[in-house]
Amino acid sequence: MLTKSPIDKIKYELKGIEIYSKIEERYVYSHDASNSVINKNNIADLVIFPKTITDVQKTVKFASENNIPIICRGAGTNTVGACIPSKNGIILDFTKMNKIKEINPLNMSAIVEPGVIVGDLESEAEKYGLFYPPDPSNLKVSTIGGSIALNSAGARCFKYGATKDYVLDMLVVTSDGNIIRTGSNTIKNSVGYNLGSIFIGSEGTLGIVVEATLKLIPKPAQLSAVMGYFDNIEDCINSVNKIIEHRLFPSTIDFMDSNALKTVEQFYPTGLDYKKSCALLIEIDGEKSSVQNQMNDICKILNECNASGLQYSKNEKEFDDLWKARRSSMAACARLKPNVTTDDIIVPRQNLSKLIYGVNDICKKHNLICCLVGHVGDGSVHPQIPIDFEDENEYKSYKMAKSEIYDLTIELGGTISGEHGIGSVKKPYIDKVVDSGALEYMKIIKKVFDPKNILNPFKIF
Ligand SMILES: Cc1cc2nc3c(=O)[nH]c(=O)nc-3n(C[C@H](O)[C@H](O)[C@H](O)COP(=O)(O)OP(=O)(O)OC[C@H]3O[C@@H](n4cnc5c(N)ncnc54)[C@H](O)[C@@H]3O)c2cc1C
Repeated sequence: MLTKSPIDKIKYELKGIEIYSKIEERYVYSHDASNSVINKNNIADLVIFPKTITDVQKTVKFASENNIPIICRGAGTNTVGACIPSKNGIILDFTKMNKIKEINPLNMSAIVEPGVIVGDLESEAEKYGLFYPPDPSNLKVSTIGGSIALNSAGARCFKYGATKDYVLDMLVVTSDGNIIRTGSNTIKNSVGYNLGSIFIGSEGTLGIVVEATLKLIPKPAQLSAVMGYFDNIEDCINSVNKIIEHRLFPSTIDFMDSNALKTVEQFYPTGLDYKKSCALLIEIDGEKSSVQNQMNDICKILNECNASGLQYSKNEKEFDDLWKARRSSMAACARLKPNVTTDDIIVPRQNLSKLIYGVNDICKKHNLICCLVGHVGDGSVHPQIPIDFEDENEYKSYKMAKSEIYDLTIELGGTISGEHGIGSVKKPYIDKVVDSGALEYMKIIKKVFDPKNILNPFKIF
C-alpha cells in the first residue's frame, strides 16, 4: 500500500489530472468482465486518468522510482482478469485519451489514442468510405488500447484477421517512462525486428500503448446476413465445412446453440427459433452483385445441409436485429445466475463438432448450464457458463469443468485462447499449451522490457 507522501507527490506532479483515491472509487477497479473471484481483494492505491503522453510518462517514471505496479485499463471488458491489480498499484485508466487524431484517406490509415472506442473508429472511418474490420462483439465499448493488448479479433476475423493485422505503428511508453516507436506509417516495413508484434497481445506487461497507427481498408459496398437453423450439430458444422470447401468467403460464420438461442429469446426477444438445436449467422460483404451471388450459393449449401427457417436481412434494421441477438448472448446468459463466465477455446476446424459435443457433455456431467456461441468459421467457441460464485459446490464443479474443457481442446489440437488472452484467470493453465522452452523465452522478454516487474505484474505466467 502506498503511504501518504508518495500519493501526495504524484498528485502534485499530475496537477489538473483526474485522480481517484477514495476506497469506493478504487474498489470498482478490482473487477472486470471476468467476474474473477481471484483478485477481488486486491485494490489499487490510485486510479489516474492521463490526458496526454506526458502524463503517462510522469506516472510511469514515478512508479518505476518507487517500485509500484502500473496496470492499464481501457473499458475493463476483458474476460480473464487482465486489468485488475494482482496486489496493489496504480491504474492508468485511458478513457480520457480517446481522440481519433487523424484519418488519412490516401494512406488508408488512422492515428488514434489508446482510449478510442473500437466502434467509434469504425464509424469515423466509414465517413471516408473506409473500414476498420476487427470487431470484438462488444466493440461499442471496448478500446483500441485493450484490443491491441489482447490482440482481439471477433466475428470478422474469419475474412479479415485480428487486431495484429491492422497495427502499422505504435508509440509505447516503456517501463522506465521513456518512449519508443515500434514501426512506421507505411503499409510495409521490413526494417529490423518486428518490435510491434512483441507488444501486441502482451496484456500491458511489456509497455504502454499511448498512440497507434492503424491500417484501414476500403469499406465493402454492401452487407447482408442470413440466419439458418439446424436440428443437429452435424448438419450445422457440415454446412460450415461446405462453405469453406466451396471457397466462398463470407465475412463471418457465427454459431449459437439451443441454450444460447433460448436464453437470448427469453431476455432480448428478436424472434429467434429457440426450439432448434443450433443456428448459424453468416454475414456476406462486398460488391452488390457478388454479395447476391454469394448469398445464393451459401443458402443453397444451407438448404442441402437441412437448414430451416432461413432469416435474411432485407434492410439495415433487420441486419442489426440479427446481430443484436448474437451479440446479446453474454448479457442474456448473465441473467440466469448471479455471475456469468465466458471462455474462449479454439480448435482446427475439422474438430469443431467434437469440441461442441464434448463441451456440452462436460457441462452436463458437472450440472452446469452452458450457452455456446462462437466464431465457428475460425474454429473458435465461447462456452458461456452462468454460475453462482457463492455456491461452493457449483464453483468447484465449474473449475473441474473448465480444466476438462481445456484438456479436451488440447486433445483436439487446439489452444486455450483464440482472442481473449490469459490474464490472471487462465494463468494456471498456460503451461498446458506453451512448452517450457517457449515459456522461458517469454519470461526473458518480460525481464528485458520490465526488469523491475512493475507493468501489470503476475499476469500471463
Ligand atoms: C460481451 C463481450 C463480448 C466479447 N467479444 C469478444 C470478441 O468477439 N472478440 C474478442 O477478441 N474479444 C471479445 N471480448 C473480450 C474483450 O472485450 C476484448 O478483448 C476487448 O478488446 C478488451 O478491450 P478493453 O478496452 O475492455 O480492455 P481492458 O479489459 O480494459 O484491458 C485489456 C488488457 O489490455 C491492457 N491495456 C489496456 N489499455 C492498454 C494500453 N493503452 N497499453 C497497454 N495495455 C493496455 C490491460 O492492462 C489488459 O491487460 C468480449 C468481451 C465481452 C464482455
